[in-house]
Amino acid sequence: MTRPFNFSPGPAVLPEPVLRQAAAEMLDWHGTGMSVTEMSHRGKEFMSIYHAAQASLRELLAIPDDYKLLFLQGGAIGQNAIVPMNLLRGKDRADYVNTGDWSKRSIAEAEHFCKVNVAASAEGSGFTAIPPQSEWRLDPGAAYVHICSNETIIGLEYHWTPDTGAVPLVADMSSDILSRPIDVSRYGLIYAGAQKNIGPAGLTLVIVRDDLLGGALPTTPSAFNYQVQAANDSMINTPPTFAIYLAGLVFDWIREQGGLAAMAERNRAKAALLYGCLDRSAFYRKRVVAADRSLMNVCFHLPDPALDAAFLEGARAAGLLNLKGHRIVGGFRASIYNAMPIDGVRALVRYMQAFEKRCG
Ligand code: PMP
Repeated sequence: MTRPFNFSPGPAVLPEPVLRQAAAEMLDWHGTGMSVTEMSHRGKEFMSIYHAAQASLRELLAIPDDYKLLFLQGGAIGQNAIVPMNLLRGKDRADYVNTGDWSKRSIAEAEHFCKVNVAASAEGSGFTAIPPQSEWRLDPGAAYVHICSNETIIGLEYHWTPDTGAVPLVADMSSDILSRPIDVSRYGLIYAGAQKNIGPAGLTLVIVRDDLLGGALPTTPSAFNYQVQAANDSMINTPPTFAIYLAGLVFDWIREQGGLAAMAERNRAKAALLYGCLDRSAFYRKRVVAADRSLMNVCFHLPDPALDAAFLEGARAAGLLNLKGHRIVGGFRASIYNAMPIDGVRALVRYMQAFEKRCG
């Protein structure tokens, strides 16, 4: 069976070999007679899956020993509140950089817990460029500095790591984690919902430096208290077992492909093909400045929205699914995460060129 190319922003395409392996193991995992969905999370079978997934991700991201890796629930939106609950550590304020809709959601949640200083905002550029760090007004008394490393809706991505000195840097990496190597030691905390580059929805990844643990607000629920979860293998409650299992298969798949450096090279090649098509065209419109374009979410518009329905219908007929842009911005968005093969991008470029010829 040939599957269409799925450009969904998330939940998103997963590597086909991973889905095939999960299908083959669905009724009987490794001769146990059980599906992973049927196992006790505390049994030796699932614990081996859990520890293997942790080890695989630690190796992939080269996570230093003084960082905990937590497998939680509640999504990135949950972390928007859980981060201040845990990281204020007696302080009353935090810095946020506003680069788009996901930053705004983070700011709105944090405002329930502390004073938010918007240290920089892309609003002035119409959210088409990341404000350079020279323009940030950081507060040395802030508990942390929060950024969204890739704004999934508008396709605006940091291609550099901010320097926040002694104040911990916190990043929502939901839509670009594992797309390239990162230096984890530059961050105090990284979080990500799983449903783009990691695995199925339901799992939330948190990587947090040890010295930031232990200062949670007294009202923090134990399931959302990093220190409590870290001391309990993320199992103060039942973890999302099947999502962890599938994420583990994805981590192994990435390692087999050559790790994050290989992913980055492929992702650069895919994005170059698609942006190259947009740049050569006087028909397709794009907004984000070249230096800050997302390698994961490529957004574009047609000159006349009356053509949108025909573009989408033709794409669907050509086996190119889920290209509709987010309702906030309209237009189109091709999400080209790790599991999108370059052939999918080539097929999209061919379709776009043919559509331009017909309607441009
Ligand atoms: N942050 C970013 C950058 C996202 O792309 C998303 C989801 N698309 C979220 C946060 C929200 O994640 P969740 O639905 O897992 O809470």
